[in-house]
Amino acid sequence: MIFVNEPVIGQAEKTYVQDCLDTGWISSGGKYVDQFEADWAAYCGQPHGIAVANGTVALEAAVAAFDFPQGSEIILPTFTIISCAQAITNLGLVPVLVDSEPDTWNMNVAQVAQKITPKTVAIMPVHIYGHPVEMDPLFALAAEHNLKIIEDAAEVHGAEYLSAYGQAAPTWLRCGGMGDVSTFSFYANKLITTGEGGMVLASTLALNQRLRSYRNLCFQPERRFLHDELGNNYRLTNVQAAIGVAQVARIAEIVARKREIARQYTERLASINGIQLPIEKPWAKSVFWMYGFVVDEAWGMDAVDVAKKLHALGVQTRPYFLGMHEQPAFHKMGLFIDEDYPVATRIAKQGLYLPTGLALTDAQIATVCDAMHKVFQ
Ligand SMILES: *Cc1c(COP(=O)(O)O)cnc(C)c1O
Repeated sequence: MIFVNEPVIGQAEKTYVQDCLDTGWISSGGKYVDQFEADWAAYCGQPHGIAVANGTVALEAAVAAFDFPQGSEIILPTFTIISCAQAITNLGLVPVLVDSEPDTWNMNVAQVAQKITPKTVAIMPVHIYGHPVEMDPLFALAAEHNLKIIEDAAEVHGAEYLSAYGQAAPTWLRCGGMGDVSTFSFYANKLITTGEGGMVLASTLALNQRLRSYRNLCFQPERRFLHDELGNNYRLTNVQAAIGVAQVARIAEIVARKREIARQYTERLASINGIQLPIEKPWAKSVFWMYGFVVDEAWGMDAVDVAKKLHALGVQTRPYFLGMHEQPAFHKMGLFIDEDYPVATRIAKQGLYLPTGLALTDAQIATVCDAMHKVFQ
């Protein structure tokens, strides 16, 4: 079986983890946490990094950092992981959805303007499967309506977006460096992993302080067990951060390999009619987190059928996201009932992704592509 993801753990990771064990710095204090935060924030072009336990709580902390009034609305794509929407509902706020673009599968930015109401406080762009969201229209809307941008960059470590908004000349910006706050996951299948882990990047000192406090139960510096506000224990351990420091040092290599995996897939799969492969817009440098494709209904197969056939040929796959508007858990809360997002509904049914992990060899890519040609013949 060729697995959808296998991480690559190098020698530096082992050396740094051993250092934590040898010195006893195994909880959330320690030099690796500080270095991981500083290195990753600098790489992404944000002034502050706040390491947390995973990408899900990173999103919740990022939203909480603004203290939005209860009932405020945040606009996000329906086609994403549930962590995004539940970060909003958990805090007594209201998620408002837009559909996907048919070619990049990212949020349809043209629909955002139509969803803005007097209660809208923020936009949450989620860069999907490695490809950046088109940010300039969102920057313009945020400025016009005084909205915050909460960027979910969990799938795009190292991806870049060519922005002309407010720049003298078009400038490449890193994903995760464009929001008022941005969030990352370092789960084992992400481009940078700490096993489990996450980070919030913050654009201001005030947000940084608020996030640090929220991550650590809102202990007050003057009197440790006195609490003015409620936070959480969302801390990352020094052991995890040690793995992260080693991984960040290799980010250029990791991105290059992901792009090469995608290049080889596209070269070998382009001749199959009736499947839609990932693209890269001229204003984007995708990192192809997962190499996905969408099957035309004309094949008479949906993603489940294709996944079964590939599995029988020794290739593991994963289905695409199922939109937030199709989630019973939200319907029970009275959300998204009778809302229709046809692109997201179609790609959820017809989309799946192939093995794209960093341990994947060129020979395995060839084997996967042979299996694809057998399924689509
Ligand atoms: C992986 C992921 C998350 C959640 O991260 P965890 O670390 O698994 O909690 C959030 N958003 C997106 C877009 C993701 O892909």
